[in-house]
Amino acid sequence: MKELLVKMANKLQSKKVYRVEVDSEACKDCGYCIAVCPQAVFRQADYFNTKGYRPVQSILTQQCVGCRRCFFACPDFAIDVLEEQAGEGQQ
Ligand code: SF4
Ligand code: SF4
Repeated sequence: MKELLVKMANKLQSKKVYRVEVDSEACKDCGYCIAVCPQAVFRQADYFNTKGYRPVQSILTQQCVGCRRCFFACPDFAIDVLEEQAGEGQQ
């Protein structure tokens, strides 16, 4: 019984996927999110936003594990970490 519950819990957990969105106009390129992300999801963009900053982009959002370190580290509230069911948002 316990094994079955563990298997079910693992299966439910494995279905969690996350989508990380960065507001490129709010980002001030401080780099905190890049520093704290254990999954190397972020990279600095090769363009400037209208305020003259090079915003970060969430280029490997599929690697996100949902720890939300980036969310809490960002001083400009530029990051959203959205939880989705596996398969959601994919075409
Ligand atoms: S939630 Fe965690 S793993 Fe996902 S992008 Fe933010 S810091 Fe990286
Ligand atoms: S922590 Fe926020 S403001 Fe700083 S680089 Fe990341 S998204 Fe931009």
